[in-house]
Parts: sequence; structure tokens; C-alpha cells
Amino acid sequence: MPVQLLGAGQIRALAAELDVTPTKKLGQNFVVDANTVRKIVHVADVRAGERVVEIGPGLGSLTLAILEAGAEVTAVEIDHRLAGRLPETAREHGVAAGALEVVCADALRVSALPGEPSVLVANLPYNVSVPVLLHFLETFPHLQRGVVMVQAEVGERLAAPPGSKVYGSPSAKAAWYGPWRLAGTVSRQVFWPVPNVDSVLVAFSRDGEPRGTEEERLRTFAVIDAAFRQRRKMLRQALAETLGGTSATASAVLEAAKVPATARGEELSIDDFQRIAQVALL
Ligand code: SAM
Repeated sequence: MPVQLLGAGQIRALAAELDVTPTKKLGQNFVVDANTVRKIVHVADVRAGERVVEIGPGLGSLTLAILEAGAEVTAVEIDHRLAGRLPETAREHGVAAGALEVVCADALRVSALPGEPSVLVANLPYNVSVPVLLHFLETFPHLQRGVVMVQAEVGERLAAPPGSKVYGSPSAKAAWYGPWRLAGTVSRQVFWPVPNVDSVLVAFSRDGEPRGTEEERLRTFAVIDAAFRQRRKMLRQALAETLGGTSATASAVLEAAKVPATARGEELSIDDFQRIAQVALL
């Protein structure tokens, strides 16, 4: 039996059955449009037999679309009412036994995922989208690619190149794991309740080998934090404060890393930040 997707009426009926009133605190804006969830799965190029992790499956609309494509899903949901109902919804909609694993947990704290998924697909809760993404990329090196729906402003930042107006700490940190690109826009009308922001899809893929060790990553992220903590300052000053040294020491570090002494964080690529961290020995 093929998997059947959820319609808008079914989603509201499920919420009523569970006595769930969507909360802002958990970023609960459910997609109530089958075309949208199919589009996300298409952009993510989900293939039959792959294991996908979904963060925040909610009532299951995107989950069923991933399963419809023949993939297996590990779904991590913090709200126990939603997590508890999802296996039954999947059964009722034609999902084969064993194709779905539900983990009821805070995605920011999970440290193991059944099935070692290689793809991430999610309509992320707005309030924690960047920390959750960075946590998953760091904790699960087997995640090779993914597509996530986030608030437009956040998606633009994640995909921003150095020098662009919105380039910031999330852009530089996300780039540690590989390239990101904007992969489409999503109307706010496809959500229930309708949010007061627009959404976009962003896609990422790993570059292959990890860029550095965990220690190197932490040092690079500390340089990024220093650079963007005081955006308007030159990196030389920000670094001197972080290193506890003088502006001259910081200039020497920048020179050794082949970064101009007058550079500001917003102009630097992840390669620049990594070279600074390598010579700075924070
Ligand atoms: N995937 C569903 C959809 O597209 O209709 C729901 C998406 S909704 C934007 C976000 C979901 O993430 C909600 O189900 C919410 O309960 C869940 N959530 C919020 N914070 C979470 C967290 N820290 N860990 C896991 N799930 C979380």
C-alpha cells in the first residue's frame, strides 16, 4: 500500500485529538500543504533506501513525504504528545513496519541516532534552528547532506558569502562543514498557524574529509566568536582582547596567517579563520 500524505483537515483533527495548541516556544508551525512537503523531499533528492533524520516531525506531514519517497526515517521530537502519536499516524498512512524510528528528545541534546542517517531533512523550529543544525553537523559526521526549512533571514545568513551584508558568525561556522546554498522560498500560507516571517530552504553538503580536528574546530570557532562579538572593531583589536595580548601580538598572528592587519571579521572566509586559529594557539 502506498504512503498517503496528511491533508490540512487531518492535521488539525490530529492536533485536536491530542489537545495540542501549537506553541511559539517550540516553534510549532505545521506544514499543511502536500505540495510543499513533496517539494522539500524533491529538493533534498531523497532516494529509496536512504536513512533520513528529521528534526521536529510534529504531526508528521514532512515525515510521511520522506517515507513516501521510500527512505527510512529517524525522527527526533521534543513534544511527547507528538512523538507518541507519530508511529500510529505512520501505520494508518501505509508506512511499513520498521521504516520509522521516533526518538522523543531535545534535538539539542541527542548524542546518538538509530540507523546512522546520512541525510538531514527538517522544517526546523525557528527559535533553535542554528544551534540545532550546528549540533547535528558536529555530533553526526555520517550526515553527508541535507535540506532544512528555516526563517528567511536565518537561511540567508547560513548561505551568505564573506563580505555580504548578512555574513556573520553562523555563516562562518556553517561553512566549516561544507558549502551551503539557498534552495527555494516557501510561502507563509502553507503553515498552520501562519507565522509572521517568510521561510526558505537551505541545502548543505559535506566537502568530503573533515576540515580539521575537534580541537581545531573549537579554536577556529573561538576566533569567529571574537571577530563577530564586536563587529565594528578590526579583527586585530578583537583578537588582542581574546588572546589577552597586545595589538602588536595580534598583528603578528594575522601576518603569519596572511590576513591583512586591518581586516574585519565580516570579510574573512572559513579558510582565513582556520589559518588564524592555527597560528594563534588560543
Ligand atoms: N515537521 C513538522 C511540519 O513540517 O509540519 C513540524 C515542524 S515545526 C516548525 C517544529 C517541530 O519541532 C515541532 O513539532 C516542535 O515540537 C519540534 N521541536 C521544537 N523544539 C525542538 C527540540 N529542541 N528538539 C526536537 N524537536 C523540537
